[in-house]
Amino acid sequence: MTESLNLLGLDNEALTQQVAEWGHKPFRAKQLLRWIHQRGVSDFAQMTDLAKDFRAQLERQCTIQLADVITKKVSSDGTRKWLFDVGNHNAIETVFIPEDDRGTLCISSQAGCAVACRFCSTGHQGFNRNLTTAEIIGQLWSARADILADQGAARLNSELNEHDRIISNVVMMGMGEPLLNYHQVVPALKLMLDDNAYGLSRRRVTVSTSGVVPMMDRLSQDCPVALAVSLHAPNDELRDQLIPLNKKYPLAELLAACNRYLEYAPRDFITFEYIMLDQINDLDKHAKELIDIAKEVRCKINLIPFNPFPESGLKRSSAERVKQFAQILMNAGVVTTVRKTRGDDIDAACGQLAGEVKDRTKISAKMQARKMIPIKEVIS
Ligand code: SF4
Repeated sequence: MTESLNLLGLDNEALTQQVAEWGHKPFRAKQLLRWIHQRGVSDFAQMTDLAKDFRAQLERQCTIQLADVITKKVSSDGTRKWLFDVGNHNAIETVFIPEDDRGTLCISSQAGCAVACRFCSTGHQGFNRNLTTAEIIGQLWSARADILADQGAARLNSELNEHDRIISNVVMMGMGEPLLNYHQVVPALKLMLDDNAYGLSRRRVTVSTSGVVPMMDRLSQDCPVALAVSLHAPNDELRDQLIPLNKKYPLAELLAACNRYLEYAPRDFITFEYIMLDQINDLDKHAKELIDIAKEVRCKINLIPFNPFPESGLKRSSAERVKQFAQILMNAGVVTTVRKTRGDDIDAACGQLAGEVKDRTKISAKMQARKMIPIKEVIS
């Protein structure tokens, strides 16, 4: 028996090619995109403007397969977190953060992560596998359907204007390094942008990378959405310790790639994410080094309060220290924001996306066994 084709993971190009192979015109692909993604319909029988025999063919050969929700939590501040089952004892997390003027969905790109950043609980779990395009876009499909169901919304998201959308922004900042799953992530981004699917503008879709330089260049050509870079340290010595990938793509290369990306980016700045770690990267001298970086790359710096977890051996900078650090940057004219923590009561804040991963890479064991240089020695 041949396996059913999951239409959820096909972008316009792939779906157009598929319907052509079946002998249908390209507009059938657009109709399917609208049913699946705009209207959130997963039952072919309900796709009433498709010919009956085409619907019957779709039912025989295709599926719209979504991951099962294992748990769903709603925070007192309205933040929602879903844990999705992606098979073989792997689970991924998706978080929705409602704000007055926007609703942001943070989605995952991999089950676990091989980058092994020291401050990240996903990194400590290790890596199992890349998510498929269907599993990536399925997080958006399912989150929207769930929110609409809870709100009893009579109208669908696609009928609202951009500012009214329930999910107005998507950030690829959940589990995984999106640019290490490039071939599955790009079609998902294209679906987010497609007017027949989710119709988000490129400014409202953000890919966050720890600095996979060659793939940043490819993204600038294939699908230049907004870019966030997990910087977290202002010099190579410290960044090597916090983000092992820095040894492969050190800061000079990363910053040059940011400037190349800016030529194609939908925004005229790169967002640098900077997690605030007590006595590690939060000293005045680090702020001064960051100011030098901001002179090289048009950027906005987003300071993120660290959410401690026992294996990290790291502590959160005090609120006062974050404020002082931000002030040094702002006094030098660097655009700086401090991220509000959201969903603390449901462990949905940044760096707390733990999911559940069957580690193929044994990273967690290696991280435990590896004698990392105590970070204090690096900064002394
Ligand atoms: S911060 Fe991002 S890239 Fe680093 S380990 Fe966590 S998920 Fe992976």
